[in-house]
Amino acid sequence: MHITAYSKALLSNWFYIEPLRLLLDAGEGIGPFLESRALGIQDVFLSHAHVDHFTGLRLLLLMRRRGIFRNESPLPPLRIYFPATSGVFQRYFAYLAGEFFDWDEMVELHPMMPEDRVALRTGRDLEALAMEVQHVPYDLCLGYRIVQKRWKLRPAFQKLDGKAIRTLIEAQGREALSDRLEVPVLVFSGDGKPLQDEASRGAMLLIHEATFLDPDTSDVHSTLSEAITAFERLEAERLLLYHFSVRYTPAQITAALERLVPDATRRSMIHLVLPGHLFDQTLPIKMFG
Ligand SMILES: [Zn+2]
Ligand SMILES: [Zn+2]
Repeated sequence: MHITAYSKALLSNWFYIEPLRLLLDAGEGIGPFLESRALGIQDVFLSHAHVDHFTGLRLLLLMRRRGIFRNESPLPPLRIYFPATSGVFQRYFAYLAGEFFDWDEMVELHPMMPEDRVALRTGRDLEALAMEVQHVPYDLCLGYRIVQKRWKLRPAFQKLDGKAIRTLIEAQGREALSDRLEVPVLVFSGDGKPLQDEASRGAMLLIHEATFLDPDTSDVHSTLSEAITAFERLEAERLLLYHFSVRYTPAQITAALERLVPDATRRSMIHLVLPGHLFDQTLPIKMFG
């Protein structure tokens, strides 16, 4: 799964999950870093209305409209999901609507409340669910859980060979042999204290904020050790840490991680979006379809 991301607390945060055509948050720099790749974005999920998480939208929309990268066929409207009750987003979208005469054709706005669920445009039985996270008390802040629906063969049928299973499916339908499961593929915590979301247990990738290195603490952000504890508790396969404060150098952050997770094999499951460095990597995360 190829991920391109940039993150500095208070300045800019965004993640482009290229195989899913999915942008998580939209801080500054999407256009300059992604250039024509940004035109592939189809769904945008915004976690909350702090300025480091959404102000890159304007340039992204300009790029889609102007065709500076010679996008020949017209692009479909960008779908933007955002916390429904946030007044900042209402005002920001009203401002953008005044900037773009064709606003209604450029975007589809989807206000989200906790537990709301939507299908991703990429299909493949992928859905996004909004979850409320504990960040600031005066505004709705969301994280998103991306799930994939899969069939799992019941134990009674697991010893059969592929041909026998296919014959049974043809005769009786898939439901007779398998259960429909929902696998958390990717979980994005948004900003806030450690994620408490039982349904995210076992996620293939947890993207979690870690603003401070211990012993610094905060009521509205997580520390590195809190983020790692959440990763262990939720039994995610991999962890991608972001939102580090600019007060720390990359060397301080990697040294702190080595202290907290001394085992190199375990540490290889933890990835860092270091402040000021573009993260542009393919993580070994296998999806179906
Ligand atoms: Zn932030
Ligand atoms: Zn914030």
